[in-house]
Amino acid sequence: MVEAQPKRDIRKLKSDELKQFFLDHGDKPFRALQVEEWLWKKSAKSFDQMTNLSVPTRELLKAHFSINHIRVDTMQRSADGTIKNAVVLHDGLVVESVLIPAEKRITACVSSQVGCSLACKFCATARLKRQRNLSADEIYDQVVAIKEQAELFFGRPLTNIVFMGMGEPLLNYANVTAAIDKITSQKGLGMAMKRITVSTVGVSKMIIKMADDGVKFNLAVSLHAAIDKTRSSIMPINDSNPLDELAAALRYWYQKTKRKVTYEYVVWQGINDSEADAQALLKFCKIVPSKVNLIEYNPIDDGDFKQASDEVLTNYMDLLERHGITTRIRKSRGKDIDAACGQLANKS
Ligand code: SAH
Repeated sequence: MVEAQPKRDIRKLKSDELKQFFLDHGDKPFRALQVEEWLWKKSAKSFDQMTNLSVPTRELLKAHFSINHIRVDTMQRSADGTIKNAVVLHDGLVVESVLIPAEKRITACVSSQVGCSLACKFCATARLKRQRNLSADEIYDQVVAIKEQAELFFGRPLTNIVFMGMGEPLLNYANVTAAIDKITSQKGLGMAMKRITVSTVGVSKMIIKMADDGVKFNLAVSLHAAIDKTRSSIMPINDSNPLDELAAALRYWYQKTKRKVTYEYVVWQGINDSEADAQALLKFCKIVPSKVNLIEYNPIDDGDFKQASDEVLTNYMDLLERHGITTRIRKSRGKDIDAACGQLANKS
C-alpha cells in the first residue's frame, strides 16, 4: 500500500517553486501569482476560497498542499483594552500574541518560537521549554489576526509590530525575516519597515548578520543589566555572549545602519538598583546612539524579583536624561490577563 505523503505547507514554497509546480502540471506560471495573492494579501484559509481558480486547479492544489493557517482559540480582553490571543498551530501547539491599543497606535506583539530556550530568570515564557520555531506564515498569521481585531474592535488600522512575544526572534532569524518581508510587501500587508521592531536578548552574531543583511526594521535589546556579573545572574545567555561582545556587535550595527538602538531595562530591588548599576547603563548607552525603555516589572510569581521603587526609577531616568539619552518609563498593559511583557506562558 502506498502511504499518503504528508502535504506540504504551500506557503513554504518560493514563488519560483510554485511557478514550476504549475508548469509541471501543464498550467501557466502566472497561476502562481494568483495563488500567492490569495495566500498572503487575502490571507485565504482554504483553497476553496480561491474563486478565480478553476475547480480542477483547486483540487490539484488540495491534493498536494495544505494551508497551515493558525486558529485563534481564545481571546481575552483586559480592562485596559489589551487583547491576548491564544493561537493554535496546525500541530496543536499554542503560542500567544497580543494587541496593545494606545491613543495614536495599535501594536501587535507577536511570538517567534513555541516556548523559549533562553532561561531568563524573570520571564514566564522561559519556563516553557522551546518546542520549535514558528514558520514565516505562522508569524504572518498572528499579525493578520491582530490587524482584523484592530479593525473590528477599534475601527482603526494596525500601526506597529513588535517581536516581543514568546521566543527569541534572532534564533529564528530566517523565518522572522521572511515573515517581515511578507508583512511589508505590497503583495502582503504593505506595512512600513520603520513600524516594526525586533526585540532580542542580544545575540551578538545575529546582530552582526542583520547589519550585513541591511535590514530596515528597528532593533531593541533586552539589556536589564550593564554589568556582566549581574546580567549573567539573571540572563544565562550573558555567559556565552558577554557585554563586550554585545557592545562590539552594536557598534557594527550602528556603523552599518545608522539607526538608534532601544534598550529595554527593568529595575529590580537588590539586583540592579544601585548607583553603580545606573552608571553602568549610562556608559553602555554611550556606545552607540540609543534610547531606553524602563519597563515595569510584571511579577510572574512571588519569587526573587521585585520592582524597584519609583524613586530609584526616577533617579535612573534623571541620570540618563541629563546625559541626553531619551528615556521612557513604560507602564505595563494587559497585566490582569497575563498579557504583559514576560507573562506569556499559555495560562489562558
Ligand atoms: N527574546 C526576546 C523577545 C521577548 S521580548 C527578548 O528577550 O527581547 C519580551 C520582553 O519582556 C523582553 O524585553 C524581556 O526582557 C521582558 N520581560 C521578560 N519578563 C518580564 C517580566 N516579568 N516583566 C517585565 N518584562 C519582562
